[in-house]
Amino acid sequence: MKTRIFVAGHNGMVGSAIVRQLMKRDNVEVITRSRQELNLLDQAAVNAFFATANIDQVYLAAAKVGGIHANNTYPADFIYENLMMECNIIHAAHQHDVQHLLFLGSSCIYPKLATQPMKENALLTDTLEATNEPYAIAKIAGIKLCESYNRQHGRDYRSVMPTNLYGENDNFHPENSHVIPALMRRFHEAKLNGDAEVVVWGTGKPMREFLHVDDMAAASVHVMELDAKTYQANTEPMLSHINVGTGVDCTIREMAETMAKVVGYEGKLVFDSSKPDGTPRKLMDVSRLAALGWRYRIGLEQGLASTYQWFLDNQDNFRQ
Ligand code: GDP
Repeated sequence: MKTRIFVAGHNGMVGSAIVRQLMKRDNVEVITRSRQELNLLDQAAVNAFFATANIDQVYLAAAKVGGIHANNTYPADFIYENLMMECNIIHAAHQHDVQHLLFLGSSCIYPKLATQPMKENALLTDTLEATNEPYAIAKIAGIKLCESYNRQHGRDYRSVMPTNLYGENDNFHPENSHVIPALMRRFHEAKLNGDAEVVVWGTGKPMREFLHVDDMAAASVHVMELDAKTYQANTEPMLSHINVGTGVDCTIREMAETMAKVVGYEGKLVFDSSKPDGTPRKLMDVSRLAALGWRYRIGLEQGLASTYQWFLDNQDNFRQ
């Protein structure tokens, strides 16, 4: 019998990468539902889905996500939609006896000024970054939902916290996207227009760690498939989430310079310090994941190059 795996959020960047990863297996049946078929904000609809779909495992990759500007502008959407989707899916999965679930969070769950690199136990030790606090609170709630169903009901619900992700199927909206797709598009258009300069938000000094989404998908499947003993031996009882990243970061300026090289833009970079920098640094401590046998494969320049190729091939239908 094939394992029936529901990937929630399969049209998104991470969900689609997880589906590609799972499709490589032949003992798996991947179940997906489009937004039109199943509104994850609707508790009754989610319940009805789980009541009949006979699901063995869930990858919870559905989320309302966005960059620094979107988080700052639509805080209600970010906290409401994420909390609702997490509650609906995790509770319905439990009610319909799904034993295995993987929840995808974010590195912004950690305090704004957490000691770097950030260990899993930095969670809830200090104040969050203000620009994305509502989103972070929802993601922290997701981790705590998983832990609570494990404690009270003996479920095996795991959580992975990715660093900043990028890759194919990203959102290329000029304002609401994350820095990599935003700059890829801006540099590309500047190259076509022959513009002398391109604006990069903030001071260029914040440091970020970037992980290609195919690596994230591989790590997600790796963590989901660890046997329970190995997983539990590596996590403290009240700390069930695992960081996923490269353990390497760079400044926004350095990333922008690499991006300009990849895109072939030769003009000047101008930094607009009236735009927010966000948290100064958020480098993951990935030693726990390394001890569980996983390491990233795709370096930043290589990942930017393949993402740019995807961008060129999909210019008419990318999300924005
Ligand atoms: P964050 O990691 O949650 O802050 O997510 P972002 O990817 O939105 O931003 C990362 C950093 O890149 C921040 O310091 C931004 O100010 C900076 N940045 C520079 N240019 C841009 C841009 O065009 N869009 C976005 N979203 N961020 C930018």
